[in-house]
Amino acid sequence: MSTPTLPPTVAAHVPTELLIDGVWRPAASGRRFEVADPATTQVLFEVADAGPEDALAALTAADSAREEWRAVSPRARAELLRAVFEEMRAHAEDLAALVTAEGGKPLAESRAEVAYAADYVRWYSEQAVRLDGLARRAPAGGAHQLVLRRPVGPALLITPWNFPIAMIARKMAPALAAGCPVIVKPAQLAPLTTAYVAEMVRAELEARGLPAGVLGILPSSSAGALTTPLLADPRLRKLSFTGSTEVGRILLRSAAQSVLRTSMELGGNAPFLVFDDADIPAAVEGALAAKMRNSGQTCVAANRFLVHESVAAEFTDGLTAAFDRLVMGHGATPGTTAGPLIEAAAVERVAAAVAAAVDGGARVRSGGHRPRGAGYFYAPTVLENVSPDDLVVTEEVFGPVAPVMTFATEGEAVALANGTEFGLVAYAYTRDVGRVMRLVESVETGMLGINRGMVSDASAPFGGVKSSGLGREGGEAGIEEYLETVYVAL
Ligand code: NAP
Repeated sequence: MSTPTLPPTVAAHVPTELLIDGVWRPAASGRRFEVADPATTQVLFEVADAGPEDALAALTAADSAREEWRAVSPRARAELLRAVFEEMRAHAEDLAALVTAEGGKPLAESRAEVAYAADYVRWYSEQAVRLDGLARRAPAGGAHQLVLRRPVGPALLITPWNFPIAMIARKMAPALAAGCPVIVKPAQLAPLTTAYVAEMVRAELEARGLPAGVLGILPSSSAGALTTPLLADPRLRKLSFTGSTEVGRILLRSAAQSVLRTSMELGGNAPFLVFDDADIPAAVEGALAAKMRNSGQTCVAANRFLVHESVAAEFTDGLTAAFDRLVMGHGATPGTTAGPLIEAAAVERVAAAVAAAVDGGARVRSGGHRPRGAGYFYAPTVLENVSPDDLVVTEEVFGPVAPVMTFATEGEAVALANGTEFGLVAYAYTRDVGRVMRLVESVETGMLGINRGMVSDASAPFGGVKSSGLGREGGEAGIEEYLETVYVAL
């Protein structure tokens, strides 16, 4: 099988089987599916295709490892994660090449994703030994209260394709630190980097004599069929999902049956507010970062640019010039700053949303077309004169499209920002501290970036409100998702 975009040394080490109970093995059905490079559409690998039988085998292994893993000392869990972090750092270039090959990102972005993912592993290696409890006298006297933390138990981690290493790291590291065995269902479109990292964990578990069933990896082309029996099985105690709100709702319904603990990192529709006192060149730079990472295919991508009418021309001109300078191409080609979208359907969806906006009166300032040639590309696009009802504004575009709308007052800007079912992140550019504090109170999102286009950090709680999700990943909060609280009256 040809691997056009991967160095042979990396290609030779990508596991393409399922990981169950410490062994890479084919699917019970013998089936496999193809994983392609979105920049060329060429097939990279055929990967074992897990089904329900494999899922239950992985759960049996996780459940068998449960007590032993829980009994492993926090220090030993910390040291395992630290060793995985060091491995990720040592093989960062290999990992970045894989991220680019299966997801299309420019290599510089893939390197940043790998560093970001490794940061989660390091952070939770440090948190594993800092789990708090509580002891105190009951207020009425006569008893003492102990509050203890213990691991929830086997956890199913379902991840999307857009950050194939960061998403698994953000879930797996706190789960393992807390003492939970995990089963990972990576995205069908991008399961390779997950497998590469999983082999690092597997090897470290083996070298340390730790239970092999702690980590299962189940790439699959039939997500629903794979996860349904797991969600119905009482041995599974936790579901952590990152993906679309639509699929999140389906999973929440299934999880309700067994009253499963859930964490949900779902869709976004981030507003990017530029006020009349903003540093406009800085806002343009922040807009580029907030919009164009992974060609707009991030949950925290700025989806709507809300700009004060007095600075709209200057901002839109600056953004147009910045978009015009982007270089589309294969992520591994030096100089590329805008990669492809993940699949043909994504290009269709973006093209349709832009066409509808243009029909409704929007003006294309940059891009607005598909380039010729192979791969799933859509040109970085700036639209102005967009209306609040346009699809590019109401839906999560998940592509390289920046629709610019104007506002006259702060109140109007906040109302537009909040006028969505989503509440993941918002960005605002202003030099007025009083306004910043008003935005903190009034903008309905789980995260707010002030004068910056990126907010994510392993040490900070990432997550949304409203239909953007439940729970947090990262920071002190991230490990709480994998712990339950036990109260002892003494
Ligand atoms: P998706 O279609 O919801 O898929 C996410 C994961 O769920 C994939 O592994 C997918 O498997 C699996 N899945 C799909 N249907 C399922 C079902 N019925 N039962 C169980 N699992 C199922 O989302 P996506 O297109 O990969 O990712 C884009 C979305 O993720 C966007 O909405 C984005 O905002 C969101 N996202 C959110 C965050 C966050 O932290 N809030 C981060 C990144 C992305 P297959 O690959 O086999 O379909």
